[in-house]
Amino acid sequence: MSSIYRRDSVIVVVRPVDERCNLSCEYCNAAVHANSRAIMSRETLERIIVQASKPDYRFVQFVWHGGEPLLAGLDFYKAVLELQQQHFGGNFAAGRCENVIQTNGLLLSTNTLDFLEKGGFWIGTSIDGPDLSANRYRFQGRGAETVLKKTLDACRSVRARGLSLLTISVIHDANFYRAEEMYHFFCKLDDILAAQIRRSCGCFVKAFLEGLGLGVRNIQ
Ligand code: SF4
Repeated sequence: MSSIYRRDSVIVVVRPVDERCNLSCEYCNAAVHANSRAIMSRETLERIIVQASKPDYRFVQFVWHGGEPLLAGLDFYKAVLELQQQHFGGNFAAGRCENVIQTNGLLLSTNTLDFLEKGGFWIGTSIDGPDLSANRYRFQGRGAETVLKKTLDACRSVRARGLSLLTISVIHDANFYRAEEMYHFFCKLDDILAAQIRRSCGCFVKAFLEGLGLGVRNIQ
């Protein structure tokens, strides 16, 4: 299991392209940043890694987030690995740090997956359920079916390589009442389901869990 659940870990969330994204989900701010082309500079990246590498932190998990973090390009993540190697030490000083990339999956080409796998990245993706109805606030209009298929294909490619997949889902009025179906969908897709449910909150989630016969107290 990823060290994401270790109590002594520090999580550093970094947004190399701020909130810029290649999707514009209705419940997200990303569309506001659609015209930005900025990518975090190497100098800023190095400052973050140097700060995180200080011995005060026993374990550091870098979460590359967005927007869509893969819009930064693979050269950015090559620099990440190079600077971590430099500041944390060889093989990241015996596992003192790790990387998770939280992507919508649309840029997970074979080449990108090769790179992430070789670099030891954990891959997280966001999807709200098995079909367009459950993804009402993510994929809309023309092309929605294609985007859903691409996302699901990306998830399956990650799993087909034997890599762990973490998913984040927004539970909302279009999917919470399908609790049992959603549960089985995510069990097939994702191998760290329970932890994500634990990390969610809100009344829809409570209803969702009750639909599964789980009281909120049972899973904390
Ligand atoms: S994929 Fe994520 S970052 Fe992009 S618009 Fe949707 S919720 Fe926002």
